[in-house]
Amino acid sequence: MKFGGTSVGKPERMNEISKLITKDEEPKIVVLSALSGSTNSLSEISSFLSKGDRTAAKQRIDTLEQHYQNFIIQLVKEEAFYNKAKTIIAEHFEFLNIILKISYSEALNKDILAQGELLSTKLFSVFLEEKKIDHALLPALDFMTIDYLGEPQVGSIKVKLTQILKKHKNARIFLTQGYICRNSKGEVDNLKRGGSDYTASLIAGAINASVCEIWTDIDGMHNNDPRIVEKTKPVGRLSFDEAAELAYFGAKILHPASIWPAQYFNFPVRLLNTMSPDSPGTLIVGDAGSVGVKAVAAKDFITAIKIKSSRMLLAYGFLRKIFEVFEKYQTAIDMVTTSEVAVSLTIDNDAYLPEIVKELELYGTVEVDNDQTIVSIVGNQITRTEDVLAKVFKTLSGVPVRMVSYGGSQHNISILVARDQKEKTLRLLNKGLFGM
Ligand code: ASP
Ligand code: MG
Repeated sequence: MKFGGTSVGKPERMNEISKLITKDEEPKIVVLSALSGSTNSLSEISSFLSKGDRTAAKQRIDTLEQHYQNFIIQLVKEEAFYNKAKTIIAEHFEFLNIILKISYSEALNKDILAQGELLSTKLFSVFLEEKKIDHALLPALDFMTIDYLGEPQVGSIKVKLTQILKKHKNARIFLTQGYICRNSKGEVDNLKRGGSDYTASLIAGAINASVCEIWTDIDGMHNNDPRIVEKTKPVGRLSFDEAAELAYFGAKILHPASIWPAQYFNFPVRLLNTMSPDSPGTLIVGDAGSVGVKAVAAKDFITAIKIKSSRMLLAYGFLRKIFEVFEKYQTAIDMVTTSEVAVSLTIDNDAYLPEIVKELELYGTVEVDNDQTIVSIVGNQITRTEDVLAKVFKTLSGVPVRMVSYGGSQHNISILVARDQKEKTLRLLNKGLFGM
């Protein structure tokens, strides 16, 4: 069971979690995120330090510490537990205050970012102790590791975690940190923002869990972005492929990497709502259940690049040369469309854009469109049901579409629009595809 930032962000929410994890006798591993806002604050602190602005960093540290001080006043009642919680906060903020004096490095940045999950799990552990709920706190840094490419070491995670679990024969509830891990140098590292979902799914795979439950503050994956369109509904069931497309193309509820362990080890994932625990949420399994469109999602901050070359005409090897440029700069390509004389593609990481453009110019004229949005229409076998594409085009007749990607998989039609067309696009699709 993984609980996200808002699910642990208030003392009363922690109380809700304590009920959810004690509902039945089945042993479980509970993965926690940092309190909502904490990782953002820590990242700001780190960024001030990287710029040498110690005063601003110190101010943020103090504000964050105050937040935790207020948090524990409401979290625990008895003095003994309050003091315990206070000591935990003191320890972690002492660390943050010491690093103000050390010179900044990437390793230090990761240490700073790790404080949120360390704090949330330790404080929740004290809360459980006060409530006399038996549990064992397992430090994720003892078993969660990534290799030099940043990929989780699935085999080693399994071995280490199994060994650790054996030491706690009588425990039924295990608590651990999401997001944080150790890298190949043994330093503290993380699974990237939103990575607690990934932790949970890697653990579920490592222990052959019967299910991986991701508890958030919304009742499952919705058919459209609830922040933009007025009416949305939860999607009851998705296949792994559909969920991966949705998570990757913008549905913020789930870290995209957390799907592959579920697919690989074949365990179901449930997206559930802490605020409404009895809602069915979304079940993600191997089999999609039904045919047709299930949801649309949008991914912003996309850059479209067009390479036009008259010499490309029937030229083999052209695409390889183009793609190699992106490989060289470790930049992933999301969408690709081709014509006889040009190829358009999109990237979401423009860190090396100037270098990439410069090299692409060797092969033709290059045009760049910033601030684009990929809107993905996801479902089961949607490229086999003829009317979906017709519906999409009819619905979007007034929207300038920059690119369309169709037929790449059975589950996805992606279109690229300018960012300022996104809201209109999502609203129109909500009407046209879901009648909402
Ligand atoms: N606390 C981390 C973040 O905010 C990881 C997570 O919540 O999944 O990104
Ligand atoms: Mg999250």
